[in-house]
Amino acid sequence: MKEMPEMDIKKIKDQILLISNKLNIKVKYVEDDIENFKDFLTPNSSWILGKDEIVIGQYEDPELLFISFFHEIGHTLLSKEFIEEWNHNTLLIEIECWHLGIKYAKENNIYFSDKAIEYGYTQALSYVGHDEREKGKGEPK
Ligand SMILES: [Zn+2]
Repeated sequence: MKEMPEMDIKKIKDQILLISNKLNIKVKYVEDDIENFKDFLTPNSSWILGKDEIVIGQYEDPELLFISFFHEIGHTLLSKEFIEEWNHNTLLIEIECWHLGIKYAKENNIYFSDKAIEYGYTQALSYVGHDEREKGKGEPK
């Protein structure tokens, strides 16, 4: 896997805007409105609200922010059939959303470093032993 060229946060946000506009998805950044995103302060986390709104939390590493955005895109691409086929299994859904997101990035000529990909799947594995149905609002998805 090739390494992602150094990207600054501004370039990444421009790309996020481009892609989210293309897909008709609203993107908001926690850092732009801390007051209204008090439930979204978990570092290195992003959320999907409904099917078309993504909230991006605060990240130290811009590449992790970027790959997390694609994971949330993965949630918007995930089919109902997949969810039903696997009986709402959160771990399988999370892994599939990383897969769909990274694949969608690749289709847009965006390639992530192994480190970022490892980060993503490690996030997914944090659902081992948990089930979404037991989780409260505001937790990373
Ligand atoms: Zn997720």
